[in-house]
Amino acid sequence: MLLPLHSSSPVFRPEPLIDDEFLEKLRRRDALLSAIVDSSDDAIVSKDLNGYITSWNKSAERLFGYTADQAIGRTVAELIIPADRQDEEVDILSRLRRGERVDHFETVRKCRDGRLIDLSLTISPVRDPSGKIIGASKIARDISERKLAEGRLRRSEERFRQLAEVGPQFVWLSGPRGELEFVNQRWVDFSGLDLEATNDPSKLRLHIHPEDRLLEHWERCLATGTPFELEARLRGKDGEFRWFMMRSVPVRDDKGQVWRWFGTSTDIHENKILQLELQKANKDLEQFAYSASHDLQEPLRTMKIYSQLLSMKYRPQLGGEAAEFLDYVTSAANRMEMLVRDLFAYIQLPQEGIPSEPIDPQEPLASALADLAGAIAQSGARVTFDSLPPVRMQRTHLKQLFQNLIGNGIKYCSTERVPAVHVSCEPDGSMLVFTVSDNGIGIENQYKEQIFGLFTRLHSSEAYSGTGIGLAICQRIVDRYHGRIWVDSEPGRGSCFRFAVPA
Ligand code: ADP
Repeated sequence: MLLPLHSSSPVFRPEPLIDDEFLEKLRRRDALLSAIVDSSDDAIVSKDLNGYITSWNKSAERLFGYTADQAIGRTVAELIIPADRQDEEVDILSRLRRGERVDHFETVRKCRDGRLIDLSLTISPVRDPSGKIIGASKIARDISERKLAEGRLRRSEERFRQLAEVGPQFVWLSGPRGELEFVNQRWVDFSGLDLEATNDPSKLRLHIHPEDRLLEHWERCLATGTPFELEARLRGKDGEFRWFMMRSVPVRDDKGQVWRWFGTSTDIHENKILQLELQKANKDLEQFAYSASHDLQEPLRTMKIYSQLLSMKYRPQLGGEAAEFLDYVTSAANRMEMLVRDLFAYIQLPQEGIPSEPIDPQEPLASALADLAGAIAQSGARVTFDSLPPVRMQRTHLKQLFQNLIGNGIKYCSTERVPAVHVSCEPDGSMLVFTVSDNGIGIENQYKEQIFGLFTRLHSSEAYSGTGIGLAICQRIVDRYHGRIWVDSEPGRGSCFRFAVPA
């Protein structure tokens, strides 16, 4: 379709026999089409088959800086095509002569002030009523902004790629469904898999340790949009597995939809091997301590019973020094029995995890107080407590904490006061902080951390009986809940033992 593109462009001349009314209609159509063309944001230009400009709309004036009068009658080549792109026009004209269209041809054109602008050209041949090609209409869209944005994006991608190659990690980028779009050279060098091969599950599987369930874990994160974090083994091209800390975070668009996943894998092999060896050594040690403390109980009981029998039956005959020695044996056997029993409790700490439902702390508290009934009655201690909020802990664990802390509050009392122990609990952010306070002898500042270690005692057995294991058990329990235990104390006035566990 040949459009009269501008008021100054050559207008279609009607055949002489056409009446005035028809002429008027044509004029109106002409004016309407000119207005449409002039209101377009794109430069719309027409030219003949020799490249001479025949029309030039308002946007062409704005874009190239030439008025229609300055442009019409000159060739496109001389007016706006840069010297190094003159061949393009030759090619375009020959394609037009063959009746071909040129679609979204991206190129550069020169403005009147010498500026070069990025354009996308769509050029169509124009035919006369008989179908003969007589020229071309050209729509030129300014794409400088888009090109600039593309350039910025390219540069930012280059920076990302450079950054991705700098560190010692594997870096990867995937689409929302996990399809990899980028893997850095370090990964390629390590695994021997390029991007395409890494995207092939049958090849990737050979580099993943089946026990780590990496792909299952990754698929779950893809489905839920939650960050991915896993310690897993990856096999290098040398066939050896190494441990990696793998992390990937979802990058979301404005609407909150996952748009990309950005991931890294950091080599933690040496540390992980050490950690596994340590875990194994700890397990062996625990096993040994368990057997030792278990097997020690029987001979100890025998020693205790026979030394007591000896004392009961033969003390008058033994007399003097021999009786005293026998008392030492009995007391050592008692102490040893206590030690072995507490050690056994420490090692045997129930392995259960954090329960999903909270429990009422009142019940384990009551159970601990029942076990402490003898000590409470003997000392005349006053044990009080506030109402305690529900907490997600195992009953046995909470009971052990209460029993050790309240028991100590009663035991480490001042000679001047009747022991008074109070139990309370306050929320602190996402944690619950339990407090067991007493009015006892208190603890010097320098020992506040030490006392939670195994076998740490600040007093002799003669002054206060004990094994130095109770607080170590408390520490171990609280660690299980990723919590914290500590003491605030003023020597001579009392102590506040606190432990914080997730609410
Ligand atoms: P044990 O009481 O069997 O010695 P613990 O591990 O319970 O072992 O306590 C370690 C040490 O911490 C105790 O020997 C004591 O010196 C000190 N201690 C614990 N609780 C208190 C307390 N409430 N007041 C003062 N000292 C305490």
